[in-house]
Amino acid sequence: MPELPEVESTVRALRPRIRGQRLLAVRALDPVLAHVPRAMALPAAVQDVERRGKYILFRLDTVFLIVHLRMSGRLLWREEGAYPPHTRLVLEFPHGEVLFVDVRRLGTAEVAREFREELGPDALSDLSFLPQALRRSRAPIKVWLLDQRNLAGIGNIYAAEILFRAGIDPRRPAHSLTPAEVARLRAVIPAVLEEALAALGTTLADAAYQTPEGEAGDYAPWVYGREGLPCKVCGTPIVRVELGGRGTYFCPRCQK
Ligand SMILES: [Zn+2]
Repeated sequence: MPELPEVESTVRALRPRIRGQRLLAVRALDPVLAHVPRAMALPAAVQDVERRGKYILFRLDTVFLIVHLRMSGRLLWREEGAYPPHTRLVLEFPHGEVLFVDVRRLGTAEVAREFREELGPDALSDLSFLPQALRRSRAPIKVWLLDQRNLAGIGNIYAAEILFRAGIDPRRPAHSLTPAEVARLRAVIPAVLEEALAALGTTLADAAYQTPEGEAGDYAPWVYGREGLPCKVCGTPIVRVELGGRGTYFCPRCQK
């Protein structure tokens, strides 16, 4: 569930707290993650905390600790108090702890010398390649946006929001978009992501996303999760279809 805005909000909150600090110990409370402390030489200095697509990278002296939050993972900063339920991993610093909390246990944590995931350009980077890339693809535009090898950082919520804002039907083949539609998409992708980032992301009723300080995101979706509710622009009921195995929400009147 966490996508670029939620992951970036997490990284921005953690970075000033732990960059340059010494990671003293790592404890795996979930046996599935027991390989993490075993693979690390500790203590180690944290050079930086970075985002790549939807991955969070803790850059240590010689290795990366690479976390993916998947459906329900979150990283919390804690200076004192008991661990919340579903805490799977604890990173101990002299002045506090980073907790990896994950109700559904689908999130991952790996230790590696390099980051090897095949990711396309970041969704917040220069998108001038978009017209050419879209012309080559027959995939529905929403499926194209979700493929991290095309563009890194967008998931199911923001793909729906971006296509609504661009007025494009999510089922349209990518190559069928007109130059004007591609230009709109190119403008809307950073606009929607920056807006969501300013709101610290989206917290839905069924998901557990919080910033490391325990705040909920304030972004309010226009179409995502709003099946049957009136479109906020034209009043037409929002429709949900399955596309590439994912629930897909759109306004049949505003999106062509
Ligand atoms: Zn509408």
